[in-house]
Amino acid sequence: MNRREFSKRIALLGAGLPAGLAVGQPAERKESPDGWYEEPAKKLPTRKFDVVVAGGGTAGVVTAIAAARQGAKTMLIERKGYPGGTVVEGGTALHSYFNLWKAFPGVAKQQVVRGIPQEIVDRLAKVGGTSGHAEMVSGYDYDSVCTAIDTELYKLVTFEMLVESGVYVAVNTLLAGAIMEGSRIKGVIAESRAGREAILARSFVDCTAYGDLAAFAGAQYTEPNDYAVVNSMGVGGVNVERFYDYLQSRGAVTQLARGWRSGKEGQIVRVQTNSKGLPEEFREAAGKIMLAMVTTTVHDDYFMFIKMGFKMTVSPTDRDAVSHAELELRKRQAKAIELFRKYVPGCEKAFIARTSPSLNIRRARVIGCDYDITRSDVLDGKHFDDDIMTYGFHDSAPRLQIKNGGTYGIPYPALRVARIENLLAAGMLITSNHDAHMSTRNTVCCMGQGQGAGTAAALCAARNCGTRELPYPALRDALLKAGVYLKA
Ligand SMILES: Cc1cc2nc3c(=O)[nH]c(=O)nc-3n(C[C@H](O)[C@H](O)[C@H](O)COP(=O)(O)OP(=O)(O)OC[C@H]3O[C@@H](n4cnc5c(N)ncnc54)[C@H](O)[C@@H]3O)c2cc1C
Repeated sequence: MNRREFSKRIALLGAGLPAGLAVGQPAERKESPDGWYEEPAKKLPTRKFDVVVAGGGTAGVVTAIAAARQGAKTMLIERKGYPGGTVVEGGTALHSYFNLWKAFPGVAKQQVVRGIPQEIVDRLAKVGGTSGHAEMVSGYDYDSVCTAIDTELYKLVTFEMLVESGVYVAVNTLLAGAIMEGSRIKGVIAESRAGREAILARSFVDCTAYGDLAAFAGAQYTEPNDYAVVNSMGVGGVNVERFYDYLQSRGAVTQLARGWRSGKEGQIVRVQTNSKGLPEEFREAAGKIMLAMVTTTVHDDYFMFIKMGFKMTVSPTDRDAVSHAELELRKRQAKAIELFRKYVPGCEKAFIARTSPSLNIRRARVIGCDYDITRSDVLDGKHFDDDIMTYGFHDSAPRLQIKNGGTYGIPYPALRVARIENLLAAGMLITSNHDAHMSTRNTVCCMGQGQGAGTAAALCAARNCGTRELPYPALRDALLKAGVYLKA
């Protein structure tokens, strides 16, 4: 939808609201299978906050904590019953708090993401919920460490941190629209079993991964549909040592890390194999269901995530195509378990211990921001005068790495949603270039962006200014005081 169409649509939808306001709604439908129903305008109860964070996932948790710690009255709106998002549903390990020092002899080890993202790991460590930053024993041209997590404890620990920080946490609540006043968001519409509400605030951050708030607000976006959709499952009843010994005997272990597992240090927490590792029959069948295996764990007898993929022909914002994919992915999970039991030593008693409530995607909408991080910014290790974080991991390593085991910076304009006065974005939804996105979308980068975005949103709210009026030195100062590492 172009800008003119959008404006026309919000003008129509604005009927019933105070003059000058309009409500952004989900994607416009041009056709209706069985006619149309005209929804009457309603009077909604309101709540007022300084900062509203849409989406309590990987980036959103950190965003909300950061905003609240700056003293902003902050609301977090999350559609599921828990915080965490894709970090507790999709991946294998948190990539990465460090630069790729092990792949570059002579390069110093540097922890480049600190602050709230590190606090989460510290809290998890206290309850046995992480492998710690386990150094890779082999395969360190991909990442130098493996930080595996207990996904259920992650939900609990981050929920507690949000509440302790004073965030008003609204889980089981859907962000369903934006109330616009020109190019400024005045509020959002939230829906829950308690009904519809209008939530008014000064600053907003879109951490929905799909860019729902930005799209409602009329921001520009694209939908590249350049990844398969995935539902990852946790597999129980596996003997990690027998699995590893089998792969090792075939000379097929390509990545190995040892760290904390079930209360003991020095245990296997990550194993990856090359194509020789598993029997031909397994590999052939696994290919058909797009089964990807990098096994990580923090518990005996458990693999954290085994991923099944499915390539959709349309973007994952299409509800009906997604319904089809959800079923297909669940069939693929059942098939995968069958294969593990039959062909993989140590997995004879494997079973599906957990699945994601809905499929995951590496990106859906890409939101237009004031600056779009480029491939060369990432690979050449570029830092900017207005960095909000430092990052040093690339998911396509060793094929694509950040030069010399170095780092690059995420500049503040990369989080500012173009054309909207008071909206920031953090997470997988920024960065249009595929190769650059293969770095910026990773969990620890999303978390770092969250700390930058939450801090900036709070400062903007306190000054009652738009995101572009915030002086960078004030943001930098607040981030450094909160323990964020900035190279530039
Ligand atoms: C299969 C897969 C494997 C991956 N593997 C790894 C890995 O091993 N390591 C790594 O570092 N990265 C990995 N990634 C990438 C990484 O996990 C994601 O890019 C990152 O977690 C995205 O964070 P986010 O905050 O942008 O989105 P999310 O964490 O998905 O958060 C978005 C949140 O917004 C909520 N939400 C969405 N819409 C609404 C709405 N309208 N109203 C209310 N709430 C809403 C969602 O419920 C969710 O909680 C993987 C990704 C996938 C898909």
